Order: sequence, then C-alpha cells, then structure tokens
Amino acid sequence: MKNFKIIILAGVVFALISALSYADKAAKIGSQETAVNDISSQEPKLATNDTGKPNIQGQWTQGALLVGKTHPSTRVLLGDRKIHVDSRGQFVFGLGRDADPKQTLKLIYPDGQSSSFEYQVTQRKYDIQYVEGVAQKYVAPPKEVSERITRDNVQIKKARATNRDEDQYSAGFTWPLLGKITGVYGSQRVFNGVPKRPHFGLDIAGPVGEPVYAPAPGIVSLAHDDMYYSGGTLIMDHGQGVSSTFIHLSKVTVKEGDKIERGQKIGEVGATGRATGPHLDWRINWFEQRLDPYLLLPPMPTDMPTEHLAQ
Ligand SMILES: [Zn+2]
Repeated sequence: MKNFKIIILAGVVFALISALSYADKAAKIGSQETAVNDISSQEPKLATNDTGKPNIQGQWTQGALLVGKTHPSTRVLLGDRKIHVDSRGQFVFGLGRDADPKQTLKLIYPDGQSSSFEYQVTQRKYDIQYVEGVAQKYVAPPKEVSERITRDNVQIKKARATNRDEDQYSAGFTWPLLGKITGVYGSQRVFNGVPKRPHFGLDIAGPVGEPVYAPAPGIVSLAHDDMYYSGGTLIMDHGQGVSSTFIHLSKVTVKEGDKIERGQKIGEVGATGRATGPHLDWRINWFEQRLDPYLLLPPMPTDMPTEHLAQ
C-alpha cells in the first residue's frame, strides 16, 4: 500500500512538472496563434512568396496545424497525399505526433507546371506519464465490450473523416476550459504499469459540471453520452478536416448537426469512461492525424478563478 502511494505521488509530481514546463513555453507557442489568425484576412496569392516557397503559416513541428494559400486551381500534395484546396485557394494540413523529419510539399499549377519544396520538421521529445488507479476493465477490457469499442471507434472515425468546405479553424482557438493542465499531447502512457498508446489530448482539470466552451466555431459531428473509453464524447468539425474532440464529459449539451459559435457552451466536465478524476480531455485532429491543441492556443489567461489553481 505504501509503494502504491509513492507511485501515485511520483505521478502527481511528474504531472506538475510537465504542466509547469508547458507553462514556460506558453509565451513562445502563443505567438503562433496570430499566424493562424491572420490567414482568413489575407488575399489569395499565387503559389510562392519572395523566397520561392509557398505561403505557409504555422510551424513545421510535430503535432502542428499549418495553413497555406495558393491559386484555387493549384493541386497540393504533402508527400503523396492530396490536400484539399478551397475556392479561395486556402489549404490546411497537420503533422502527426511522429511525423518524419523531412516533408515535401508539391504544387501542381493550373498550367501543368509543378514545384516541390522540402521542409524540416522539428522532432519533439515526449514525456512518459505513469497513471495508477485506473479501473482494470479499462486497462484490459473484457471480451464482451469489444463490440461496443469497435462501434464507438467507427463513429469517431466517421466524424473525423468529414471534409466540409469551410475554414472555421482559421480564426484561431481559445481555451475551452480554464484549469490546471494535468496531461499533455504525445506523452507515452503507462496504466497500472502496462504501457499503452500515447496520450493525444490536452487534459485540463475542472470540477464535474463545469461548463466547457467551444474553442472555435464549427458543426457538431458527433454527440454521444457514453462511449466505453471516452464516456461523454463530443466532436466538432471546424472545416477542411480539422476537428475537436472533447471527452469524459458528464453532459453533452448540444446535438449532432448543431451550428456552434466560439464561446458557446457545448458540455460539462466529467470523469466518464477511462478517467481517474474529473477533467476535460480536448483533442484536435486533421482527419486521422492527431495534433497538439496547445500549439494552437494563446497562453492561458492569468485572471482565471483561483479555485482552479488550488487543485
Ligand atoms: Zn486525457
């Protein structure tokens, strides 16, 4: 029992250290938000800027969302993957947690000519997070729930696959909840001593019932009260494959198809599914690629209510 407590304590200390080191980066990362914000106000430009490279806003780093502008009739490929270019020539793409250090962007212009551009992607180092006290049924799910898990995954996959010709992501993101950051993107998870898949969300602690607000406008593409791992689950589509997923909610207060404005209440904090305590787990995807919400946020406002800091 004593060892068990020490492990929990170590976990808590580790989480605190991660949260603090993240806070340090806040200023730096926050400056990126403006880059993304500027996009929608820019006039569509031709493929290249003065340096000969396409106009791309965002950082070439693992977990980042990047936005580009070109001529609407240009075809764009990231590696061999086609990227949708909208009627204004805007396109968006994301770099996954383990994106290769070298990426190639190919532009095929309306006249049939093409150019390729190489980019270096910053390789990140991810934390290892030890989580104890997870109910065993979530670490090794019993056979009889496997069908339910498969069903949940199919729905989530479908919601994230939608490619709506909108760019609601380009006005930038705001905090859906203010509170202590207890989990970060990319960290390797070890549940009750068993190594599991990395964690892709940004975990923000908050009491059960605390409102969760839309970080950007969009359409609700999935609203589910009780998924096996994620509990109350909500997915918002921000356009062109960019989506937000909010999990462990105690309540989902919007329905599928609802049009949501930034700052609108969409649900309430909970501890449903595989969660050890009440918090919001917020994820951002570009289709199936999982991105880091923290890279898209301004620093957390300092005038947040103090009861959140005390936890
Ligand atoms: Zn989480």
